[in-house]
Amino acid sequence: MKNKKDKELTGKPFLLKPCPFCGGIELGVMRLKENKTGKLFYRIHCENCRAKGPLVPESEEASAKIWNIRINIKNNGGQKV
Ligand SMILES: [Zn+2]
Repeated sequence: MKNKKDKELTGKPFLLKPCPFCGGIELGVMRLKENKTGKLFYRIHCENCRAKGPLVPESEEASAKIWNIRINIKNNGGQKV
């Protein structure tokens, strides 16, 4: 199943641990482009509570790894569980 939305991953070829805030497994990868340089960054986010992982420049997979080891994940949703 493919979703054409820009933020959608190319098929999630890696495992993501559940969200550390809400335990949700509805996780997605955002692709963000830096305006100045056109450089791409990747970021895992939780669709349930909107927690966000850090921006990672290497790849979607690298951002998934960082999510899985819980570095710098922020809960920006405002709602603490
Ligand atoms: Zn969450």
